[in-house]
Amino acid sequence: LRDNDAVVENQIVVCVRKRPLNERENRRREVDVMSVPTRNQLVVHEPKQKVDLTKYVENQHFRFDYVFDDTCNNDLVYKFTAKPLVKTIFEGGMATCFAYGQTGSGKTHTMGGEFKGKQQNFKSGIYGLVAQDVFKLLNNSKYARMNFTVSASFFEIYGKLVFDLLAKKQRLRVLEDGKQQVQVVGLTERIVTKVEHVLDLIQKGSLERTSGQTSANSNSSRSHAVFQIILRKGGSKQVEGKFSLIDLAGNERGADNGKSNRQTRIEGADINKSLLALKECIRALGRRGAHLPFRGSKLTQVLRDSFIGEKSRTCMIALISPGNFSVDHSLNTLRYADRVKEL
Ligand code: ADP
Ligand code: MG
Repeated sequence: LRDNDAVVENQIVVCVRKRPLNERENRRREVDVMSVPTRNQLVVHEPKQKVDLTKYVENQHFRFDYVFDDTCNNDLVYKFTAKPLVKTIFEGGMATCFAYGQTGSGKTHTMGGEFKGKQQNFKSGIYGLVAQDVFKLLNNSKYARMNFTVSASFFEIYGKLVFDLLAKKQRLRVLEDGKQQVQVVGLTERIVTKVEHVLDLIQKGSLERTSGQTSANSNSSRSHAVFQIILRKGGSKQVEGKFSLIDLAGNERGADNGKSNRQTRIEGADINKSLLALKECIRALGRRGAHLPFRGSKLTQVLRDSFIGEKSRTCMIALISPGNFSVDHSLNTLRYADRVKEL
C-alpha cells in the first residue's frame, strides 16, 4: 500500500492490519502464515493435516477496503482509516474508529501509539494523530469562523461497569432519558486548546488503564477503552460532532473458553455479547431503517448517538497476529470483519 493510493470514502470502512512476528513467536519458531498479495487482499495459509497424517496447506482468501502488511507504520494506517473521518465531525457528523482483535495483535499499538520497550509514543497512535488533525482543521479558514470548542474524555467499559480513566477510574453510571439520549453521568470532559493537552490526557488515561490492581478490571485485555474528541460551538452544551476511538477488549475471551472459572466465563459472555451487538449496530449504519440493537451492551449503548444520523461514519481496523499458533483466532477476527462490511 502506497502513500498516494486513493482513499475509500464509504460510510463503513473495514481494514486489516497484520503485525510482524514478535520475539516470543520467533523463539517458538512460529511461521508467518498470512500474505498480502494486493492492497486489499489477505490470504491465510493454514497448515493442516489429513487423517493419514499427510500435511497440506489450506489457503483462505479475504478481501477488505485495505490490508496493511507488517511494513506499514501507524502513520500510513492512520492515513487510510481514521484521517478521512476527521472532517466528518466538523460537518455535523459522528465518526468512530474501532480496533478489533485478539490480545497481543496490536490494538493498543495502533490506537495508543507505538511501543519502545514499556514506553509508548502517544504521538504515533491514532488517538494522538486524530487530535493533531482536529487542531489543524480548527484553524482551517473553512472552520475557523465556526468558533468550535474542543474537549476530550477517556473511559473504560468492563462488563456492565464504566470507569473514568481521567478520574482515577471512578465508577460512572449510564443513564438514558425519555428521549433516548444516553449520558455517562459525571464523565470527565476536559477542554483542550492544543494537541499537547490531548497527548497529556491520552498518557494519563492510558497509564490509569494499565495500572492499579485494586479493582477487578485491572487487565486491559478484558475491557473496552473509549477515547472521545468532542466539538461544540462556543459555550453551547449541544454536541456538534464527536470522534470516538475504541480499543476493544480481546476477542479471544469467548464464553466457551474451556479452562475458565465463573468470573472469566461471565467476562467472556459480556465481551461476546458486546462484540456481537457492535457488529449489528455497524451493519445497521449502512441499512436504512434497520433495527439498532444498541441496548444489547454497555458499549453500544454509550455509542448510540454515533450509530444514528445519516452523517455517521465508521472505520474498523481488525488486527491479526501472523503466526501459525494464532491462526484460529486470526480466522475468527477475519470472519467478524468480513461480516461487518457485508451488507
Ligand atoms: P493488544 O493491545 O491487541 O493486546 P498490543 O498493541 O499491546 O496488543 O501489541 C502487543 C505487542 O506487539 C506490543 O509489544 C507491540 O509493541 C507489538 N506490536 C503490535 N503491533 C505491532 C506492529 N505493527 N509492529 C511492531 N510491533 C507491534
Ligand atoms: Mg491492548
